[in-house]
Amino acid sequence: MARVNNWQLGREMSYWYPESRPQRQFAAVFDTNKCIACQTCTLACKTTWTSGRGQEYMLWNNVESKPYGFYPLAWDLKLLEMLNGGAWTNNRYDGQTIFESAPAGERVLGWRPEQQDYAYPNVGEDDCTGQVDKGAGMMALPHMNWFFYLARICNHCTYPACLASCPRGSIYKRPEDGIVLVDQGRCRGYQECVKGCPYKKVFFNPMTGTSEKCIACYPKMEQGIQPQCFVNCIGKIRLAGYISKPGQERQENPIDYLVRIRKIALPLFPQFGLEPNVYYIPPIHVPLSFSRQLFGPGADDAVKAYRNAANDPDLSSLLCLFGSSEQVMTKWSRQGDTVSGLDDKGTTLVRVPRNEPVFTRPAYDKLYQITRTNCP
Ligand code: SF4
Ligand code: SF4
Repeated sequence: MARVNNWQLGREMSYWYPESRPQRQFAAVFDTNKCIACQTCTLACKTTWTSGRGQEYMLWNNVESKPYGFYPLAWDLKLLEMLNGGAWTNNRYDGQTIFESAPAGERVLGWRPEQQDYAYPNVGEDDCTGQVDKGAGMMALPHMNWFFYLARICNHCTYPACLASCPRGSIYKRPEDGIVLVDQGRCRGYQECVKGCPYKKVFFNPMTGTSEKCIACYPKMEQGIQPQCFVNCIGKIRLAGYISKPGQERQENPIDYLVRIRKIALPLFPQFGLEPNVYYIPPIHVPLSFSRQLFGPGADDAVKAYRNAANDPDLSSLLCLFGSSEQVMTKWSRQGDTVSGLDDKGTTLVRVPRNEPVFTRPAYDKLYQITRTNCP
């Protein structure tokens, strides 16, 4: 085991391979407050990448209702139980990661889901049971007091457990963009990666006998276009880009700004130790103890900052860029009440107003001699 720096844990940790950060790292920010669980992202991915034989059950992108939704079943609960918790002292994690608590002779603490665990994504997650008395409202339903939608893809981790646990070295992290891929020619289907990935984002294809996973739509990213689940997102909750190496963050990089500078977007289960690169703006209406378990100790400040976003021109402007262009915006800038998304060369890709103008049309349109029914 090597000693590597994990900035999300605030300390060094043990990992199977030495630290080797890519030239730039694919990363994303998801705003959980805007997700409506329409599953358009799920279908956009499914129809693009996993509509073949043996892929029927695969959801490289899935959206689950937390706290009771899972795909596969209990993916997070099971590992949290095995890991047996661990405390944070301020921003330093004092517990053990899944690498540090690996059983003797294994590289990662993991478990492999049963086939049944994949069988019923989303069934019953949002349903209440039985009759709701008139006027009882949401508060009468214990499991509906609060919930939120958690959209998940592969995190293209800095320290991937899938890669560490593969005995054939079939999984690799691209040096140019940090995207994690399975070499289909080398894979022999041992499924150690399925067992090792705590997020359960590698899937075994019984027809090909190999493991498959989210590829961050790398053919699109190479063209400067965001992945399918991003550009099709109805709620405009997603922003794809690249995160800078620790200590090299730049204000003009939208991902750096949200993750490292404003610290409003947080990793999912940082305590697992993988340094995942999909970052979440936590839901503002959820008990903070739950958010802290999911997103680490930064949840309190992130929620506070998001609640205050309306009084924060930079933050609210940048949030308006989400879903505004299909191209990858590696830079951003604000000019008064307008925010721009730019590419690597500094070319403006899109301009968005911070406050959308409101136009009130007369109910009767003299020009066309029609009465509109959708006017106030
Ligand atoms: S498309 Fe966007 S809003 Fe719809 S479920 Fe997916 S992440 Fe949520
Ligand atoms: S989320 Fe899982 S599959 Fe993706 S890179 Fe991390 S360990 Fe590998």
